[in-house]
Amino acid sequence: MPDISAAPHRSGAKDAPSLAARVLELIASGQGTSRTELAELLGAAPSTISLTVSQLVNRGLVAEQGTRASTGGRPRKVLRIGATDEFAVAADLGGGHARVGVVLPGGELTDVSTVPFAIADGPETALSRLAETLEALAERHGRDRLRGVGLSLPGPVDVESGVVTLPSRMPGWNKFPVAAWLTERFGVPAAVENDANCMAVGEHAIQPVERRQSIMVKIGSAIGTGIIADGRLYRGATGAAGDITHVRIDAAGDIPCSCGNTGCLETVASGAALVRILRERGAAVESLGDVVRLASDADPQATRAVRQAGSYLGTVLSANVNFFNPDTVYLGGILSTLEPLVAAVRSQLYEGCHPLVTEHLTIERASLGADAGLFGAGLFALQRAMARALHDATETAPGSAPFHAFGH
Ligand SMILES: [Zn+2]
Repeated sequence: MPDISAAPHRSGAKDAPSLAARVLELIASGQGTSRTELAELLGAAPSTISLTVSQLVNRGLVAEQGTRASTGGRPRKVLRIGATDEFAVAADLGGGHARVGVVLPGGELTDVSTVPFAIADGPETALSRLAETLEALAERHGRDRLRGVGLSLPGPVDVESGVVTLPSRMPGWNKFPVAAWLTERFGVPAAVENDANCMAVGEHAIQPVERRQSIMVKIGSAIGTGIIADGRLYRGATGAAGDITHVRIDAAGDIPCSCGNTGCLETVASGAALVRILRERGAAVESLGDVVRLASDADPQATRAVRQAGSYLGTVLSANVNFFNPDTVYLGGILSTLEPLVAAVRSQLYEGCHPLVTEHLTIERASLGADAGLFGAGLFALQRAMARALHDATETAPGSAPFHAFGH
């Protein structure tokens, strides 16, 4: 099955997503809603886009839905994927709770709630309970129109196999086939991704299309980043792109890290590190929630620690921002709600980056807040479902004209 949800894992033209897959992806996320927009976004000739869209319409993968007035031009036909009212259910998993909701094609998140989720119970138990919640959501929106299930996980994921790999914060989950389990349970395609990538994709989908290069930094118990390059998620050679949490920094000395190494950024700048640091200094802190509460109340000790963490994070981030030259850095995760931390990250970036890099750089909180990961997971699920449908339509239509492929 072609993976259209990200840049291909392996290099080589045969793995490049087809133009049809890219068109579906942009329509599904709501970024491209007309032939004109699609042609602009993909840098393709309008006639080529029109042909591809017509093929998708003929195969029932895309529908035209009325028209929308465009500024100064004639009305454009609005495109959307699928037949009618299809949707995906999604969940963003944390240590003790999960955020669940429904994602509609075209980029709408609805029916969002937070439910208990005990990740430490292991995958079979925890997922079984979560599946009941998601099943109830699907029933409410019309079970027969459910097209995909998306999961955002707080650990590394092998996206091809849908298997969690060496998750330091998910005991018992290593090598568990999460995607296969969900597909079996729901009978629809499942997409499983790590949380920072889900957040990057969710936030990117609702931002102006001019923003094409961005880094999403999730600052929670751990630190993760998701990278959007040329408008698409960039996963790197082995899916580990953006994993800055285990970059070693001098300030971390020989503090042991969850990865087995010492001196990682995570040991001095993450939420877990802040809990440890403040406890060592005698503060009444049991959890990350306590840290956030103290810092929000402007407790001097907590504020100092949070600012220092932001400074360390900003130092590591500045090297990456210099290297990648993004137009936007989004800050997400619970710690991004703390102004002293955000201010410290921002000042380190301006201090540590070349003026050419920061001249037009936007640094801001993720506008989707706590929903970015959930929304991204739902978009991945819809993309996975569309890829499946595109594959099936191509397989079952022998003799029909092949879709145009990119770069051939
Ligand atoms: Zn580490």
